[in-house]
Amino acid sequence: MLLNPIKKSNKIFALLLAVVLVVSSLSVSCFAVTDAEKAEYEKKIEELQKQIEENKKKIEETKKKASVYDDDVSALQDKIGALQEQIDLYNEAIAVIDADIAVIDNQIKGVENEIDSLNKQIDELDKQVVDIQQKIADTYTLLGERIRASYMSGASSSLEYLLTSDEFEFQSYLERVELIERIAEHDDTLIKDLEKEIDSLKAKVLEIEDMKTRLAGKIKELDEVKKEHEAKKKEQEDARQVILDAEAEIQKDLDKVMAVIDEFDKESKAYQAAIDKAEDAIMEYENKLAEQNTSFGSGQVSGDMIWPLPYSDTYVSSSFKMRTLNGVTKQHNGIDICRWAGTHGATIVAVKDGTVEVAYKSGNNGGYGLYVVINHGNGVKTYYAHLSATLVNVGDYVTQGTTIGRAGNTGYSFGAHLHFGLMINGGWVNPMNYLTRPAGLQIVA
Ligand SMILES: [Zn+2]
Repeated sequence: MLLNPIKKSNKIFALLLAVVLVVSSLSVSCFAVTDAEKAEYEKKIEELQKQIEENKKKIEETKKKASVYDDDVSALQDKIGALQEQIDLYNEAIAVIDADIAVIDNQIKGVENEIDSLNKQIDELDKQVVDIQQKIADTYTLLGERIRASYMSGASSSLEYLLTSDEFEFQSYLERVELIERIAEHDDTLIKDLEKEIDSLKAKVLEIEDMKTRLAGKIKELDEVKKEHEAKKKEQEDARQVILDAEAEIQKDLDKVMAVIDEFDKESKAYQAAIDKAEDAIMEYENKLAEQNTSFGSGQVSGDMIWPLPYSDTYVSSSFKMRTLNGVTKQHNGIDICRWAGTHGATIVAVKDGTVEVAYKSGNNGGYGLYVVINHGNGVKTYYAHLSATLVNVGDYVTQGTTIGRAGNTGYSFGAHLHFGLMINGGWVNPMNYLTRPAGLQIVA
């Protein structure tokens, strides 16, 4: 059931086991409780109370042991805090450098875009140059063809024509020469123009190449500036790493101390669990003893007892059991009842017919504050305490369900509630064994 590798806790688990055994032996109890059993229960209660006190002392000791480390913890936390401030400063510096680098990156990208667009322009110009070169080549070809054609159509040389006697042929020869010359002249001009155009395009390309060179220089400059920034960033990061390492070391120390404190916390919790178990066991014994109180021949409750707060949203905030208030552990001689919707001023009714025996309308009255006691006869009395108003008087005969007061917070009370006590033959008994509980009643504690 309880598996824990920590040796220190073994003692506690042995103790817990003992309590569990005591509690489980109780669950096979029967109605009749003999005097021997009564004595045994009372002895067990005493033992359990002793255990509770011992465990409380152990919790105190454990807390004292843990508190020795308080100074260490705060000193280490202070150190980490101081280092963290330094780290924050480095982070800020690095963020500023990163922003600078981002600006430079943007500038580089801008220049690269410019270079791209220049490359496109150069490509375009190169294409134009190729086109024009093609045109020149075509023109040369055309010219060559014309000249060849003129030779092939007649005599092979000008001299040959000059020597020709035929007037008409000579005339036609001259015309053809003139024509060829004119065509050649025209082609020559065309080629020269095209060559000029190529020259101007090449000059443009050179201009653009110049621009590109300048831009590449700019990128180089920017890259250098970026490198400087990156070097600065690296410096800051290295310095930060030193601090981070120091912080990690201190954190390790802190973790170690916290682990020790955690162990103490676990011990305290185990002691507290043992206390809770013991308190539960005591309550069970008290209940058994309360049953015994009612098993006497006289003083038996006849007829039903209704719930003293006639509402559907009441709950038991504190049961009839051993409980600790301000460090004092003692039997809670009754039950505390509250309303979820708010208790102060709630109507309180007589649980059964009877005569008002006590009706305090002021004062602390031993801690009960304003309270009413109703005697139901047969040794049975009911107590209604911490009222904000008492609405009956001593000697009044009240029937079951009669409003006798209003809930409040008078006397030794911490928040509005009804303390309801049931006494039979001078002994307190657990009212839960007698009262008719409202449907769905919650028992909080
Ligand atoms: Zn109470």
